[in-house]
Amino acid sequence: MKHLDICDILKDPAYVGKEVVVCGWVKTFRDSAKVAFLELFDGTSFARLQVVLDKDAISFDPECTRLGASVAVKGVVVKAFKGEGNELNAQQLTLLGKCPGDFPIQKKRTTLEFLRTIPHLRLRTNTFAAVFRVRSVAAQAIHRYFAERRYYYMNTPLITASDCEGAGEMFRVTTHPWKTDCKSEEEYYKNDFFGVKAGLSVSGQLEGEVAATALGRIYTFGPSFRAENSNTTRHLAEFWHVEPEIAFAELPDVLEVAEEMLKYLIRAVLNECPEEIKFFDSFVEKGLIEKLEHVATSDFAVLEYTEAVKILEKENKRFEFPVSWGCDLQTEHERYLTEEVCKRPVFVINYPKGIKSFYMKQNADGKTVAAADLLVPGIGEIIGGSEREADKEKLLAAMRERGMDLSAYKQYLDLRTFGTVPHGGFGLGFERFLMYVTGMENIRDVILFPRSVKNIM
Ligand code: ATP
Ligand code: MN
Repeated sequence: MKHLDICDILKDPAYVGKEVVVCGWVKTFRDSAKVAFLELFDGTSFARLQVVLDKDAISFDPECTRLGASVAVKGVVVKAFKGEGNELNAQQLTLLGKCPGDFPIQKKRTTLEFLRTIPHLRLRTNTFAAVFRVRSVAAQAIHRYFAERRYYYMNTPLITASDCEGAGEMFRVTTHPWKTDCKSEEEYYKNDFFGVKAGLSVSGQLEGEVAATALGRIYTFGPSFRAENSNTTRHLAEFWHVEPEIAFAELPDVLEVAEEMLKYLIRAVLNECPEEIKFFDSFVEKGLIEKLEHVATSDFAVLEYTEAVKILEKENKRFEFPVSWGCDLQTEHERYLTEEVCKRPVFVINYPKGIKSFYMKQNADGKTVAAADLLVPGIGEIIGGSEREADKEKLLAAMRERGMDLSAYKQYLDLRTFGTVPHGGFGLGFERFLMYVTGMENIRDVILFPRSVKNIM
């Protein structure tokens, strides 16, 4: 159907006097003796177009006036009778789809919890339409950021046989029927589709390294899968993962990219979604704009893990999980560091090797690895990254310490055998970023159909 977007014709004076067609859903209807008014939205912005119906001039199906009904209107754009912008004098109003009275999105504000039970309809609300317009703009900005800096966009496999990284967190991929009578695990997988145990990838990093150590700078932007049994407001079983990998880079280079990228993305969202961010500032997180402006213009803090633990130990009374050197930081610790101590985003760097992955570069102290997590107020970890171990012998030692099956990593080790280079990268959880820029507090509210424990609607 040829038609125009409401966001375009609403403000532009060039449309005044023109005959146009718009399509949308009914938000409100007001009736009087001679004229009636419909307000339509079409998802292209918050704005609604007022359609003026001269009841002497046109007739229409009363179903066109119900909340939620979809209609097409042909009419002439005129300057709004009251207020700014344009409205439409209808010549023809056509019903596309009627909407019965039990439409669950009613005018009164409904709760996010309720809307989560109708993921297929919640985008008809202002809040969710705004979230997903921001999501689209942010995704485009990610590609733009990397393209402008000559990072090549890679698509790494989603099905993988390497099961170490996400041990326990990996979803299995199988074609076996639910009933099998195999004597051993090995026999079970031998007859399975791939002939070995396979699963859904928890990260594209290992394959990203393959590409970076040939093309220089690459990034991936795709789904990662984690069967984490944690029912938190920050974890999904399926999330979108932005993972740049950079050759000829050490940890400080990785931090620089992470900080610059995050600021670029925030700036893009502020510039390209001003209405949406204003909306979130008013209705979701008071002070959001100020927060984002502040982050986009101030330097991120950097804190050694060892220093962070010293700070946290002094406050151990306030935490559910007390801290000591060697332990992983919980969200409560992360949030304390970024919200109370630094009052801005902070990179915690150089973690104990025992709590981080085998591939991270081993520091000279023999105790820590060159890892960096970026913590932000309100969320905790938003980025996890590291310099990778480029020395084959050290990498082998780390793998042996963890009892890993070296034969499964021949290709990964080859990257260290043939022209190894210092390199590193990080992973940004796209939904965590969206929570941060919209102020939405539950990760389930920034992805179309959230997948989490016992939830696959
Ligand atoms: P966390 O400690 O918060 O569970 P992680 O350390 O397991 O995260 P990484 O393996 O470092 O996460 O992954 C990189 C980034 O991917 C994280 O910083 C986060 O933004 C995002 N991320 C990780 N797991 C999830 C998940 N289950 N749902 C959504 N985003 C996630
Ligand atoms: Mn992490």
